[in-house]
Amino acid sequence: MRFTIACPLCSTRAIARTSRKLSDTMREITFRCDNDECGHVYIAQLEVVRTIVPSGRYGSHPDIPLSGRSRAAHWQAPHQ
Ligand SMILES: [Zn+2]
Repeated sequence: MRFTIACPLCSTRAIARTSRKLSDTMREITFRCDNDECGHVYIAQLEVVRTIVPSGRYGSHPDIPLSGRSRAAHWQAPHQ
């Protein structure tokens, strides 16, 4: 599966060519615009910003906060 986003200059599809891990929650991705007349090559960042459903195996990550929706579901769960 190709990871694509719109080129910020011409709005044509741009395809991810390479990616590099910067941290557990951040990657740097190099995109190339698919429009040969444009050919824009640029770097974007992909960051994990919040948890919707916590991991059932690994618990929480200190750099990934729970979303408001997830917190509400947690507080509405019945106590046993
Ligand atoms: Zn472009």
